[in-house]
Amino acid sequence: MRYFDHNATTPIAPEVLEVLARVQADVFGNPSSIHTWGQQARKEVEAARASVARLLGCGPKEVVFTSGGTEADNLAVLGAPEGHVVTTAIEHPAVLEAGRLRGADTVRVDGQGRVDPDEVRRALRPDTVLVSVMHANNETGVLQPLEEIAAIAREAGVLFHSDGVQAAGRIAVDVKALGVDLYSISGHKLYAPKGVGALYVREGVKISARQVGGRHERERRAGTENVPGIAAMGAAAALPRPESAALRDWLEEAVLERIPDVFIHGRGAARVPNTTNMAFLGVEAEALVIALDLAGFAVSTGAACSSGATRPSHVLEAMGVPPAVSKASIRISLGRSNTIEDVEALAVALEKAVARLRKLSPAYA
Ligand code: PLP
Repeated sequence: MRYFDHNATTPIAPEVLEVLARVQADVFGNPSSIHTWGQQARKEVEAARASVARLLGCGPKEVVFTSGGTEADNLAVLGAPEGHVVTTAIEHPAVLEAGRLRGADTVRVDGQGRVDPDEVRRALRPDTVLVSVMHANNETGVLQPLEEIAAIAREAGVLFHSDGVQAAGRIAVDVKALGVDLYSISGHKLYAPKGVGALYVREGVKISARQVGGRHERERRAGTENVPGIAAMGAAAALPRPESAALRDWLEEAVLERIPDVFIHGRGAARVPNTTNMAFLGVEAEALVIALDLAGFAVSTGAACSSGATRPSHVLEAMGVPPAVSKASIRISLGRSNTIEDVEALAVALEKAVARLRKLSPAYA
């Protein structure tokens, strides 16, 4: 089985699993306890916090551990002060639905999936308190011009949050250089386990806890810490990061060369190096995902959460992609363990499966 769905989740890296197993087995104390057991657990949590802070380019006190990307996004969007919120049409539901609860306005994207910073500027109102624009899109990999949007938010005195779940670990992230006030990450997208994540909260920024009942995480997130998960996330944050787009680019070239009527979404924009989203005109994406699965390849129809849903992707829709093209689109997301042999084999499998499905397709004449 060759795995090409790293934007849905990544396997735990061996060196991360070692830390997870050690802490799970040996460090069972509660980090809030005063005794030695508690101190040992506290040491693990704080070492992980320092490691995550290094990954993001911030101070350890600015890292709040959460149960994952969804909670980090919810904490940022729902925990920001009272007032108007601006977000975008292509956000992950963790931001989109939290924004909806706050009556947020959503800005459009262009055909490449890019947000125009001027659109964000125009959406600001005198009572706007928060702008939330994701760093890398989970379906297309398209990157947003965060620095420019941050400058607009700063000028307007508005907090700026970015969902960095698909960017952290894939490209170099420096929250200070980006100019964000709040930045979400998730463990299981960077070779740590599921159920752990973090929110960067710039020093001086006040957010109100969504989860109450204790003074953990400097009163920003109550609840006994997931010590093994947090320690594993610290180990994952320190993994060496090859950041090459070579395999993805090779795959795109090979597919365009060998298969007719293919369109690659967001190819004209800056993207994270691991993601490609391709439409094979006349083919049902679900049928292609199943055909590839039977051939030993794991790919996706888009966001893991909307897989299986018949509704076309809200991201592609926002990019102006017609429903018929959207429903013919699959996402291929590479990871650390993929090799050139993997992508060569995938290109061959795609060529075969697409040809076979097109023969059966009334939509492809
Ligand atoms: N944000 C983005 C962009 C994502 O891709 C995901 C996961 O699919 C999340 C947030 C949610 O993260 P988690 O699965 O850790 O809750």
